[in-house]
Amino acid sequence: MASPEEILPIVDYLIDLSCCPRCILRFLGQHAKETFYLNPKEYFNSLIMTGDKDPQENIKKLKSNVCPVCLDCYKDSTIEKITEQLKTLDLESYDYSNFFFNVSFPKCIAVRAHSILLHLKNKFPNYRFGNLYETTSNENVPLLEPPHKIFRVISSKALSEVLNRPCHPKSQLSLLICLGYEDDDIEVKNLKDIINNTKKNQHIRISRNNIPEFLKETDEKMFKSRFSVPPEIPNTPVSIVNIEINAEPLFLGGRYFKFKRNVGQTPWIKDGQSVTDYNVQDEVFKAVSSVLGFDYNSMTFTASGREDVDVRMLGTGRPFYIKIDNPKRRKFLQEDLHKIERMVIQSELVAITNLQTVPESELRRIKHGEEQKRKTYKAICKTTCPNVKEAISVINKHGESQLNVTQLTVMRVLHRRTLLPRNKIIYHMTAEEIPGHSDLFELVMVTQAGAYVKEFVHGDFKRTQPNISSLIGYPTDMIALDCIDIDLAWP
Ligand SMILES: [Zn+2]
Repeated sequence: MASPEEILPIVDYLIDLSCCPRCILRFLGQHAKETFYLNPKEYFNSLIMTGDKDPQENIKKLKSNVCPVCLDCYKDSTIEKITEQLKTLDLESYDYSNFFFNVSFPKCIAVRAHSILLHLKNKFPNYRFGNLYETTSNENVPLLEPPHKIFRVISSKALSEVLNRPCHPKSQLSLLICLGYEDDDIEVKNLKDIINNTKKNQHIRISRNNIPEFLKETDEKMFKSRFSVPPEIPNTPVSIVNIEINAEPLFLGGRYFKFKRNVGQTPWIKDGQSVTDYNVQDEVFKAVSSVLGFDYNSMTFTASGREDVDVRMLGTGRPFYIKIDNPKRRKFLQEDLHKIERMVIQSELVAITNLQTVPESELRRIKHGEEQKRKTYKAICKTTCPNVKEAISVINKHGESQLNVTQLTVMRVLHRRTLLPRNKIIYHMTAEEIPGHSDLFELVMVTQAGAYVKEFVHGDFKRTQPNISSLIGYPTDMIALDCIDIDLAWP
């Protein structure tokens, strides 16, 4: 650690340049975990106390200009403005026990920090200044604290007080405080010119993230030709552009049932008109919105595959989840979830069970399930075969073992899927007579997810091979279909 005799002239010099006390601490290499950042005066006093300076003598008086390095990002007045704005936001309505925050600084404060450090190194060649661009420290090169770390140290307490909850890095509620500076783009444009000069013919986009990387490589002479070193005192400080509130999405999982035909899974609008009067998503959203108060537009519905509009979903139901963006609450009573279930079933069209919150890490199981899992269907088929008993015995014989089927993209989805043969497996199937009907039979089949079962019955103009019609040797069609099981442990 440098002695007060080495440090004091630098402090005085930075004050002459109108730097704010927190920027001074930063460029002297002070760690943000020290309480000095909260009260820089304490630090300056400690320097005088331990140094040779006459205790009567003071450190130069701080100037009231806008800080040319941080543009007043680290000033108490800026933090006060932020807390004032926070009071106007509806954060009370967010039922979270803690919060976290990030700050988006003007891009040019990185350029200004580069400029002051360059200047200081020339002015005080014997002082060991820290590094702005490394991420790990070593004995020889201390690190200069990044802006967000300093900001967090000096503002957490004030923000915490106004939000009435502690600041916690793992909070599911986070704020993004966006600070802006009026000449930000003009200043950064100079950097772009330098980069384009050195990296000819490369189209480079400058962002907050890559500015340090470019500054690190920039030639000193070139930098000085474009930027003022030390940085100029700005006319205006930073302003608060906005404060975004972001709560991590919440996921509710369950299984749904569809008792009636002509009910869609999600709203299906064709030519400006809804194809079905009802759909599962609307029934579920209506109940969730009514019981838990979430906005309809903040929810999205995802299921493990989908059945056709005219297919019922019975048996064990189909796994689904709802994603709720920016939820104001994420804790519910079990009773609330039951209430939603009871409300959905009142529609007499749809039901849901096992509704519960699910962690995000579980969601990929639903996507994976869509491709991999087995599905069980029950269908009523009508055949032209004059002897239905014979047809049934043919099906049962083939159904004992696995049947590999090739489906050339089926006619009804040809407009939205590439024409390709796809191999699907019918794991097993059984057929049974329907008493009193000589041309009907019931067919239960367990298939690989993604198999088109209607086409497997009628053959889709021979595009699905083999098919029930070809196995029996007589045209056969399906007149009703229910999905009765989706083999996925969910939620
Ligand atoms: Zn400053």
